[in-house]
Order: sequence, then structure tokens, then C-alpha cells
Amino acid sequence: MTDARDVPAVEIRGLHKLYGSLHVLQDVNLVVSPGEVVCLIGPSGSGKSTLLRCINHLEKIQGGVIRVDGALVGYRRAGDDLIETTPRQTRQARRHIGMVFQQFNLFGHLTVLQNLIEAPVHVQRTPRAEAIERAREMLGRVGLADKHAEYPAQLSGGQQQRVAIARALCMRPKLMLFDEPTSALDPELVGEVLDVLRDLAANEMTMIVVTHEIGFARQVADSVVFMDQGRVVEHGPAARVLDSPRQDRTRRFLERVG
Ligand code: ADP
Ligand code: MG
Repeated sequence: MTDARDVPAVEIRGLHKLYGSLHVLQDVNLVVSPGEVVCLIGPSGSGKSTLLRCINHLEKIQGGVIRVDGALVGYRRAGDDLIETTPRQTRQARRHIGMVFQQFNLFGHLTVLQNLIEAPVHVQRTPRAEAIERAREMLGRVGLADKHAEYPAQLSGGQQQRVAIARALCMRPKLMLFDEPTSALDPELVGEVLDVLRDLAANEMTMIVVTHEIGFARQVADSVVFMDQGRVVEHGPAARVLDSPRQDRTRRFLERVG
């Protein structure tokens, strides 16, 4: 009998993604357990962002299967064919996934609080009072309870990114995807954003984090995936991959960034 805890948070088998003739993801396999923190590292252009976008069903795939929380979403297999699920099914699946990008993508004409309640009220049809209550709770979690009435332009980059994380959390995601969440920040602002990620990790949030912060990965990640040229070159416990990589390509990459 299968236990609910046996169902992976994310399961990717034999994933292929092409842009025209460019084979961007080649036979990617990845299983993420509930509560696991996976850091995804690799050179620019290796396919990290594309992989996150595939998991969040922002991309069509050309082969393989992606399951989030056990649900085969975005696509299903019929013989040799991959058949896309309906937009409604895709929307349902994406509800449980929060994504945070390098650029914070906040609505500049809305206050912090309005940014946070926008999707819950208009997409999830959450009653406004409930959405506001949750927004205040999430702002507290990222240490910005006092900033609810400010506009994004009045905040530092680090604060804006923390608002973006709080906004994603307001959708009550089961899985958080972070694409280089600190890469656009001045160095002195990186720490406060990583602290928020640490707190999420400590609270058992399942996360896939694309990052160049190797120190952070060493501290927080359960496992590390090294990608190069569209392939998973190495995947294992964080300390093993970062401190004694088995592959030359991983070692050379770590020498360059570390
Ligand atoms: P990374 O995030 O690791 O830097 P990406 O996933 O952004 O890598 O890109 C992987 C490869 O796919 C690169 O060669 C990039 O140029 C290409 N690529 C990404 N997005 C597109 C797109 N929308 N159309 C065509 N090629 C793309
Ligand atoms: Mg990228």
C-alpha cells in the first residue's frame, strides 16, 4: 500500500525540451521528496530556468513526464504521444506552485498589501478579509509587517524580493521554485533574502532553488543538482556534491564559482 508520504513532491522522468532544433533539456530525471530543499546549480545556459519553467507548466515539453504532488499535470501519455491537459487542469496544478524570479515583478502601482492580495482575491476567489489577514501573516514571516502600505519603489531590492516571496506564499503553495532569487541584489542585501529561504526550509517547505550561492546551498540544501548543457550531470546529498564531486565538470564549475 502506498502511503501519502511516499508520493514525491516532484517527479520528472525522461524530460526533453526543445526550442526549435535546440535541445535544451535532455533526458532529465529528478525526484524531490516532500520537505526537501534542492539547490540547482550550473553554468549560464545549462537549462536551469527552463527546467523550473517546465515544472511550473510554463513550457510545453517534447518528451517525458512531470508529476507534481503525484498529479500528472500539463501532459499525459497516450501510447507514444504526450497529450496536453486542459488549461483548467493546468491552472489547478499551478495553484500549488509558487515561483520567485530574479526580477521581483511586483506591481508598481499597487501597495505591498495590494500586491499580496491580488491573486488570492482575483484568482483564488478568497474573501478579501481573509486574504488581507493571510497577507499580513506572510509579511510578518518575511519581516516586513510594517511595510504593508508602501509602494514597491519605496523599498530596497532585498525588501522587494521578500515581498515577492510573501506574495507567492499567500497562494499557500506546496512547492516553491526560486530562480536566482538573489542575483539582482546588491551584495549587502543578499543575506536578508537567504534568511527568508532558510526559514522556509526550516518549516518544511519543499523548494527548488536555482542559485550561485554555494555557501547557502551547503548550509540549507538537502541535495544539489549540477546541470550542464541540458543534462543533470550530478545529483546527490549537498555535502557530497559540493565537497567531493564525482564528475570533472562539477569540480571545474565549483572551482570557478566557489
Ligand atoms: P540557465 O537558466 O541555466 O542559464 P536557460 O534555461 O535560461 O539556462 O537556457 C537554456 C538554453 O535555452 C540556452 O541556450 C538559452 O539560450 C535557450 N533558451 C531559453 N529560453 C529560450 C526561448 N524562449 N527560446 C529559445 N531558446 C531559449
Ligand atoms: Mg536562468
